[in-house]
Amino acid sequence: MSRSEESPPLDFIRQIVAADLVSGKYGGRVVTRFPPEPNGFLHIGHAKSICLNFGVAAEHPGGRCNLRFDDTNPLKEEDLYLQSIRTDVRWLGFDWEERQFYASGYFERLYQLAERLIENGHAYVCSLSAEELRHSRGTLTQPGRESPYRTRSVAVSLDLFRRMRAGEFPDGTHILRARIDMASPNMNMRDPALYRILHANHHQTGDQWCLYPTYDYAHCLCDAMEGITHSLCTLEFEDHRPLYDWILDRLQAELTYRPQQIEFSRLTLEYTVVSKRKLNTLVKSGVVDGWDDPRMPTLSGLRRRGYTPAAIRDFCQRVGISKTPNNVELALLENCLREDLDKHAPRAMAVLDPLRVVITSVAADHVEALTAANHPQNAAMGSRTLFWTREIWIEREDFCENPPKQFKRLVPGGEVRLRHAYVVRCDAVIKDPASGAILELHCSHDPATLHANPVDRKVKGVIHWVSATRSCRAEVRHYETLFTTPNPDEAWQGDDFAALINPNSLQVLSNCHIEEGLRDAPPGSIFQFERLGYFCVDAGCAAGAERVFNRTVGLRDSWAKVQQGR
Ligand code: ATP
Ligand code: MG
Repeated sequence: MSRSEESPPLDFIRQIVAADLVSGKYGGRVVTRFPPEPNGFLHIGHAKSICLNFGVAAEHPGGRCNLRFDDTNPLKEEDLYLQSIRTDVRWLGFDWEERQFYASGYFERLYQLAERLIENGHAYVCSLSAEELRHSRGTLTQPGRESPYRTRSVAVSLDLFRRMRAGEFPDGTHILRARIDMASPNMNMRDPALYRILHANHHQTGDQWCLYPTYDYAHCLCDAMEGITHSLCTLEFEDHRPLYDWILDRLQAELTYRPQQIEFSRLTLEYTVVSKRKLNTLVKSGVVDGWDDPRMPTLSGLRRRGYTPAAIRDFCQRVGISKTPNNVELALLENCLREDLDKHAPRAMAVLDPLRVVITSVAADHVEALTAANHPQNAAMGSRTLFWTREIWIEREDFCENPPKQFKRLVPGGEVRLRHAYVVRCDAVIKDPASGAILELHCSHDPATLHANPVDRKVKGVIHWVSATRSCRAEVRHYETLFTTPNPDEAWQGDDFAALINPNSLQVLSNCHIEEGLRDAPPGSIFQFERLGYFCVDAGCAAGAERVFNRTVGLRDSWAKVQQGR
């Protein structure tokens, strides 16, 4: 793909890829992979990795990106997660074509390669207990101790390894370790485990295996077997790179391809955790209503909230790729969304906190069809019909009996324009004699004001409204951030997170009114409710049932303003 003049400078990974193409390091190939562990749902951090891996591949002719399930830990993996990962990657707009792979698909080959390592003196079966292993590893300042089993002969290790595979030993009795250097300053190089015994059923291979490779052993070899050129991962794997290279060096003769690992910084987002373990805890504890709760930073949660794939891709591009960790502002994500929705979301009207208004100048059975554009700038989005009737709803806060000076909406004796309709004047405020609460307003409309204000009139305010007789009820769910602190990841120690949760993260408004035309709006459809923000029909809305809307995002960045004002 050619880059235009305005293209931002290449990030450091794209620079490496470009340089490798120039030098011919991989014979002109660009092959990446997105390697999720199927132990949870994908989140916004994964989106960064997906956009990077699929993006880099798409930018080069013949470039490919594989989807590879890194399924080496059957205890934590589930089919539900595999399915959700496929759905989410596709939803985000990427296609692995026929290249869906599993680490488990390479188990036999990985096993054979491990035998090669043993035969060549690079690995041995160690029979220390877990406790002994921990003690012999040393610390960052002290070297580790060599295992007494390190000097086992090739024949003995090979025999034990085969019997491990045959299921002769219980979990935890033996492991296969690389023979590297117990004095290495890099803990990952202190004879790391390559295989462990685990009598567990695997979602892909069933009972075929009772020993499983470690991530470090499997990942580099899967990369090599798939002909990956650039194995892109997050910075916590930087210290694992020497091991990645060590394994590939030792098995060079067995492999056709030689990938390279390159690390970039993880995405973290304000007011959000992006650790699957923590997200899992939120789900299990019931703080949220599942992985796709609209407050979750999972792709399924963001989708349910009304986030669009285009907005998330734009966000990932703006965040960029570097080695510097930074906690990205939530406002950036929300702005990307607003920009997309402003262009594409049809407009509609809804009243969330209704106050009844009787238009006394309109007959009781009057129903007048008014036309309203679906988008103020895009005529191609068409128009819809609103019904002008004697009784309508307005937002309770759009009327004020004793208004402050700047109040531009409806006041006793004052006039206001009803969006897409007429100018009305408030003639009477009807109250409950006992409590004094405002029950309804009596207004009259000026029929001459349907499309324009007469010149002699000063009407400052425009408010939204919905017919009381030609509308539907709806529920609206308002969200705030799930956490009260911008850095919940740091603040969340152990399993004690309850104090970090925002008690107002969900508010349900159950007496809202929407235009009649939205009665059957399909789940997932997103509207701008004029003056209120963007709202998405909840995925759980059944056909024919009352609509439930999730508030996606406000019209303006009120949050950033609040913060600046502090
Ligand atoms: P978690 O800590 O949430 O469990 P993980 O790294 O174990 O994350 P994987 O399923 O292994 O999750 O991730 C698949 C790919 O996505 C990996 O290459 C990983 O580096 C990348 N990834 C995961 N989290 C992030 C993030 N926050 N930012 C960028 N990339 C990420
Ligand atoms: Mg991982």
